[in-house]
Amino acid sequence: MTFSSQTRNELARVIPSARCCRIAELSALYDLDGFLLGRQNQYLDFNSSLPLVARKTWLLLKGLYPDLPVQVLLVKSRSRRSQVCTVRVLGKEAAALVYRDLKGQEVVDESGVPRKKCCRRAYLRGAFLNRGSVTNPEKTYHLEIVTEQTAAAERIFHTMVSLDLEAGLIQRQGSWVVYLKEGQLIVNLLNLMGAHSALLSFENVRVMKDMRNRINRLVNCETANVDKTVKAALDQIEDIERIDAELGLENLPGKLQDVARARLANPYASLQELGNSLSPKLSKSGVNYRLRQLKKIAQELDGLDHNF
Ligand SMILES: [Zn+2]
Repeated sequence: MTFSSQTRNELARVIPSARCCRIAELSALYDLDGFLLGRQNQYLDFNSSLPLVARKTWLLLKGLYPDLPVQVLLVKSRSRRSQVCTVRVLGKEAAALVYRDLKGQEVVDESGVPRKKCCRRAYLRGAFLNRGSVTNPEKTYHLEIVTEQTAAAERIFHTMVSLDLEAGLIQRQGSWVVYLKEGQLIVNLLNLMGAHSALLSFENVRVMKDMRNRINRLVNCETANVDKTVKAALDQIEDIERIDAELGLENLPGKLQDVARARLANPYASLQELGNSLSPKLSKSGVNYRLRQLKKIAQELDGLDHNF
């Protein structure tokens, strides 16, 4: 099962308890694929290609209007490759009643964002259920809702923005696409819509991916540090060999001599390890201090060279 179907299956089972939210969710289904039909508007249809969406539409309608006549139709295309499930409210008065409720929601402005937060969540759930998809988080982070209708696209877009979801809105092949591109935003939307299991699997993948990236970064960082240490040790050895050639290590003060010999014997040891190999032991900063003195001596030898 794709991650999209997993999410949709879960959302199809979320039935809001408040009347306002049921209407909000139905209105999303209507905005995207609903029609008032017939010469006298005696049908109000909700279309979908997915039976589970039709089932949910039917449940929402029956919950809101237990006495209205509602019919479910399944139309298969000739090739039988595609199908349309229609949930139809029958009768002019019944259709008018539902239509009035859908259009009579309280909204914040002309973009149609539902006034209450609970209804915004329900609206997005309905929109995603019918026209949404989300890529498997293993691959990339992308969630989108596609519609040919400008008003519906804008309503979805502004509703997302009103819930602090920084959505994008673009046109693609004659359709509008409202999308989210960031993992955290997708997680927030799944949470708001009530897709909690989908959210958990999404987060699991995201945590694993994050961890992999962090480990890779650490490994790279470690390699860089190791390179630096090795480079420093090689410089020290060069200095010491130079001092030995020109002055003779035996002519250095005792402690400098000890550190110089320890470094030559242990080219890859850390300062701490060098300090521990001496007797008496020397602290890391003690070793560092002496190595710097050796460097100074080597630089002075350099200076002498240039003077001649
Ligand atoms: Zn509500």
